[in-house]
Amino acid sequence: MRKPLIAGNWKMYKTISEAIILANGIKREMVDFTSSDIVLCPPFTALNSVYEIIMDTPIKLGAQDIAWEKEGAFTGEVSSVMLKDCGCEFVIIGHSERRKYFGETDEIVNKKIRAALSGSLIPIVCIGESLKERESNLTIEVVKKQLKGGLRELTDEQISKIIIAYEPVWAIGTGKTATPLQAEEVHCFIRKWIEEVFSSKIAENLRILYGGSVKPSNIKELMVQDDIDGALVGGASLKVESFAEIVKNAV
Ligand code: PEP
Repeated sequence: MRKPLIAGNWKMYKTISEAIILANGIKREMVDFTSSDIVLCPPFTALNSVYEIIMDTPIKLGAQDIAWEKEGAFTGEVSSVMLKDCGCEFVIIGHSERRKYFGETDEIVNKKIRAALSGSLIPIVCIGESLKERESNLTIEVVKKQLKGGLRELTDEQISKIIIAYEPVWAIGTGKTATPLQAEEVHCFIRKWIEEVFSSKIAENLRILYGGSVKPSNIKELMVQDDIDGALVGGASLKVESFAEIVKNAV
C-alpha cells in the first residue's frame, strides 16, 4: 500500500514571521492527522523556523532545491548537509520553474538527486510537459526523456527512495488542472516505465504525486485514480484552510 503524500510548495512566498503563522495554523489543523504524509516546503530562509514548529508532529519539512555538491565555493547554493541541519527530510528537485528560469537540465536534476540521496534526503523529482508539447502530442515522449535523463544510472536502491511528481507545466499556477484521466494516463505510463527499467516491486511502491492547480475541490477526483498517490500543491498551500482541506479530502 502506498501512503498518500501531500506536499506544500511555498515557492518564494512568506517571510519568516509569515511562515511561522502559516506553519502554526497547519500544525493546529493537522497535528493528529496521520492518514497521509504531510510535507511543508518553505523558502530556505524559513526552513529552520518552520522546523521548530513541526518537529514534534508527524508533519515533515522539505526544501525547494539543493546543490549537487556537499560544500565548497558555490556562492548562493545550499547543500544536503545544510538542509539536514535545518530539519529537512525531503527536497523538491527539477521543478519546472527551476528548469525554465534557472536552466536546470535533466543532467543537473540527476546530479541533484544523487546529492539528495547521499545526504539522506528524499527527492521529490518533478517532470512534466509544456502546453505546446501536449498540443503536439509529445507528452509521453517528453516525460520519458525527463525520466531517462533525470534517473540515469541510478541503482534500484536509489530509485526505491525517490518520489516523482508529474506536473504538467500548463497546469502550474494557471488554475487549469489536468483532468483526472489526463493525469492518470501519464502516471500510469511513469509506473510502467519504472517497472520496465527497474522492477515491478519498485514500480508498485513508487509514490507518484500530481501537481498543477490542485485545490480542495479537485483533489478527490484525482486521488481516486489508481496511480495518483498524492499532490504537490503550490498556490493552495499558502493558506491554512485550503491546504488543510486538500489534505483531508485526499483520503
Ligand atoms: C507547484 O508549485 O508545484 C504547483 C503545482 O503550483 P500550483 O498548485 O499553484 O499550480
